[in-house]
Amino acid sequence: MKIKCLNCNDIIESKHVHDFVTCKCYKASEALYGAFRDVLAANRSKGINPTDSAALDAFYEVVFKGVALDGGDEYTKIIGDVKTVEFLNESI
Ligand SMILES: [Zn+2]
Repeated sequence: MKIKCLNCNDIIESKHVHDFVTCKCYKASEALYGAFRDVLAANRSKGINPTDSAALDAFYEVVFKGVALDGGDEYTKIIGDVKTVEFLNESI
């Protein structure tokens, strides 16, 4: 399975079942999401903003961009912002 991320124009291809690939904006979003999650966890441990799951959800909805692909052609799985994807496989 081969797709193009319409947000960063990366073309990514998953060739087999355990071939997990991401576009570059997904990778950047993931790093940002991880950093944000760490900050919230640190605040929570200090008793600051203990109910922050809504903030994390909002971040994921609004800020998270890009797509990841897994499973090759047999067990294709698309993760991330599926609205910004162009399918490049001719066999579909
Ligand atoms: Zn992208």
